[in-house]
Amino acid sequence: MTKTIKLSCLICALTVSTLTHAESNTWKKLKAFADVTDVRGASSKEEFKALKWLQNQYQAIGLNAEIQPFSFSVKGKTYESNNLEVVIKGKSAKTVIVGAHYDGVTGSGSKGFIDNASGAITLLGVAEQIKSKPLPYTVRLVHFGAEEIGIFGSEAYVNNQKNNLKNVIGMINLDTIIGGDYLYIHSAQAKPYSCKKIDKQNYNSNPILRDKLLALSHSLNLKNGFIIHPTTSAFKQGETGSWSDHYPFACSGIPIAYLESTNFLINGKDGYDGYSQTTDKQFWDCFDDKKMTACHRQTESKWGNIWHTKFDSATFLTAKENKKLESQLNSAVTLISHFLFLP
Ligand SMILES: [Zn+2]
Repeated sequence: MTKTIKLSCLICALTVSTLTHAESNTWKKLKAFADVTDVRGASSKEEFKALKWLQNQYQAIGLNAEIQPFSFSVKGKTYESNNLEVVIKGKSAKTVIVGAHYDGVTGSGSKGFIDNASGAITLLGVAEQIKSKPLPYTVRLVHFGAEEIGIFGSEAYVNNQKNNLKNVIGMINLDTIIGGDYLYIHSAQAKPYSCKKIDKQNYNSNPILRDKLLALSHSLNLKNGFIIHPTTSAFKQGETGSWSDHYPFACSGIPIAYLESTNFLINGKDGYDGYSQTTDKQFWDCFDDKKMTACHRQTESKWGNIWHTKFDSATFLTAKENKKLESQLNSAVTLISHFLFLP
């Protein structure tokens, strides 16, 4: 892969050749992770197996990954899950968190390949890039458990006093970063989230982190560049809702950015909300290109969704879209790795 790097002096710590090597390595790791893990339902044996696999991967590259147990309740019943945290010290104690959930949705036939093995393994790819070079800021890479059934891992992380957040200057959430038609970066909604169950509420919707990442994406001239979505009936330009692990951080006063692969130009089941990920006809009963929606809205069942469906598996997706997915994954690894070296 060839890249034009215009911010050469800011990001000279990384060379194009080392990145290319590590990027292809990340794609291999993603497929390996899919091979060894099945449906990673919250609090399941499979979720724990995935956690241990990730911990071992960090150990193999010389990094300590700490398992942080937490419990959560659903309908009066208590469950156990774990977050996994890797801290890489930088020159400053000021800290950037990059987080991604590693559990998967159950009961839909999904194996959680794009949602969210892709985000989880990007953290691993980023770790390989940054672990042995001087960083301006301290970086925490955090794998969250139990996201799909209620954002419990990141909520526990934020509410846990052990995880002191006073030095945290930003949080980047990676959730479903491959598979859709476009790669987006969102900020939190200006209209505050409900922020229930978050201990210290101090809502922050500052788009500063999103805008810095977007500027860097343009400078890097990535093959699959990141954009912001236009204003739709559901969301203002570049803003997103509260349905993933950025939510508790925005609620506790931290600027967030959220990388996500989908398509906000499609008039989906509930309008232009970004839930339909692709115009690719294999994911529709019938797609009307001109109207950018289902040919027959009353009878459409697939709606261009990959996440939370049987299509979200390595077996299905890598057979059909290998190159596209690998390229999208590489864009995320490159963007985040370079970003963490910016002063
Ligand atoms: Zn997800």
